[in-house]
Amino acid sequence: MQTTYRTLSSNKHIALVAHDHCKADLINWCKTHRTLLAHHTLYGTGTTGSLIHRETGLTVNSLLSGPMGGDQQLGGLIAENKIDLMIFFWDPMNAVPHDPDVKALMRIATVWNIPVAMNMASADFLISSPFFNDTCDIRIPDYQGYLNERLK
Ligand code: PGA
Repeated sequence: MQTTYRTLSSNKHIALVAHDHCKADLINWCKTHRTLLAHHTLYGTGTTGSLIHRETGLTVNSLLSGPMGGDQQLGGLIAENKIDLMIFFWDPMNAVPHDPDVKALMRIATVWNIPVAMNMASADFLISSPFFNDTCDIRIPDYQGYLNERLK
């Protein structure tokens, strides 16, 4: 498929997800970066988002809990270009019941080429990027162009 570009605005729509054993790390990361994060629009899976809101006071648009469909909701938002960046602390040491949804979320984030951090070091790199608070062009699949070709 051909590609095109999407401009991420300076106000980013950021997805926040953490598996149970990783939630404390993500909450602490959000506390550390609270001031920066407050300039953006935050989304989270149900439990992660609610805990971040409670512990930091940040406004988080909380979806369903991950195992109840929250990962799939996030994947849908990513496919609709409504999420610009994702911080996803998944657990490499413990299995989760919704592993297929986790894989699907990782896959669709890769398809749509959004910046993703899957551990603290990468999250620190992302939030230190000059693009975090600025506009940035990312390359995405040109589905409309593909469809136009197919419908000729
Ligand atoms: P949770 O979901 O925030 O509702 O715990 C996280 C996940 O497992 O995707």
